[in-house]
Amino acid sequence: MSLVERDLAVIWHPYTQMKTAQPPIPIVRGEGTCLFGEDGKKYIDAISSWWVNIHGHSHPYIAKKIAEQLTVLEHAIFAGFTHPWAVELAERLLAILPSNQAKAFYSDNGSTAIEVAIKMCLQYWHNKGEQRTKILAFKNAYHGDTFGAMSVSGRSAFTAAFDSLLFEVEFIDLPNAGNIEELKSQISNLKSHISSFIFEPLVQGSAGMIMYEAEYLNELMAHCKKEGVLMIDDEVFTGFGRTGKSFACDHVQVQPDIMCFSKGLTGGTMAFGLTTCTQQMYDAFLSDDKMKTLFHGHSYTANPVACAAALASLDLFLEPSTKANIDRIINKHQAFAEKITGHRSLKTTRQTGTILAMEWETGDNTSYFSGLRDKLYHYFLDAGIILRPLGNVIYILPPYCITDAELDYIYSVIEKALDEI
Ligand SMILES: *Cc1c(COP(=O)(O)O)cnc(C)c1O
Repeated sequence: MSLVERDLAVIWHPYTQMKTAQPPIPIVRGEGTCLFGEDGKKYIDAISSWWVNIHGHSHPYIAKKIAEQLTVLEHAIFAGFTHPWAVELAERLLAILPSNQAKAFYSDNGSTAIEVAIKMCLQYWHNKGEQRTKILAFKNAYHGDTFGAMSVSGRSAFTAAFDSLLFEVEFIDLPNAGNIEELKSQISNLKSHISSFIFEPLVQGSAGMIMYEAEYLNELMAHCKKEGVLMIDDEVFTGFGRTGKSFACDHVQVQPDIMCFSKGLTGGTMAFGLTTCTQQMYDAFLSDDKMKTLFHGHSYTANPVACAAALASLDLFLEPSTKANIDRIINKHQAFAEKITGHRSLKTTRQTGTILAMEWETGDNTSYFSGLRDKLYHYFLDAGIILRPLGNVIYILPPYCITDAELDYIYSVIEKALDEI
């Protein structure tokens, strides 16, 4: 049996209608920006493998650190015990996060990092004896697939089967010059019930790379601060350089109370999650009363191998060449966006840092499930490029080691697609 036949016999894939989906493409090796199929075909990974990879595939330095770690300590229970790698990682990350971030809570993926953040906020008010149980979120938000994370995400086709079971959330529009005052008064009206405001900073990834301005996020955050609403900054996607700065919140002045990380945290090598918070949040759980404890933890909390992977990825991230690569990608994206602006097949282009999104003109069918999406997806696959359109939006967010030649090739295939599709 081929690998694909064996796969179809035993595997259920994520976000996949198994009845109608094309068979999965077997990938057997990764190197730098590229993934290699079983048949030897080379694919440029233009989307960093579901947005997780930042330094390239099978990076030898991260691989070496992970291999070494496995021979020293592979796992240790993290309640009642600690280990050097968890401590060092927290020390080094907190040193580069906004100065108010003081404590690190580990988990094992983006959704769990969000669950922890939500529970921290809800219990913060509970411990203080205040009835603040509502959460504020942006329309079309995406914060993950577990129930809490799904609840604070926009209601959509993906949540429809569960909508009646999700807890109620106040959804507001993304801020802009026209609505910012209205949004602020909405928050003021609700503030006595609102525990926290959760947001994807600057870019709503899953919604279709929808972008908004740092200036208005900053204004909204300043208002939340004034009204005593806690802020959860979901940097699961935007963290570690994606937006051009180390973290998206580095584009604003107001500091969030809680931050969530996953995806790029280990350079895309190991499943890992991290939630950080301020000293003030942490202090609200300190008590002689055991009922004020944060009763949350996962079996793999602070797994040493994941910590070692994150430490190695951080070493690479802090090398000056990484920042230079990020700036290089930003400049090349900008030049390409200018070049294709106005093309008749293109509705708009938008860019935040290393993320470049292009919205195809569609006529009337704009849904995620439109035929256009599949056409684009296979067009790029045939050309040896992995792009995974969100409906009629295609986007490039490459590992930072991508070469100019690889970027130019991707751009040229996009131009061709614009002419032909
Ligand atoms: C991917 C993502 C999540 C969820 O992370 P998982 O590891 O897939 O559970 C949460 N928030 C944002 C902004 C994301 O992009």
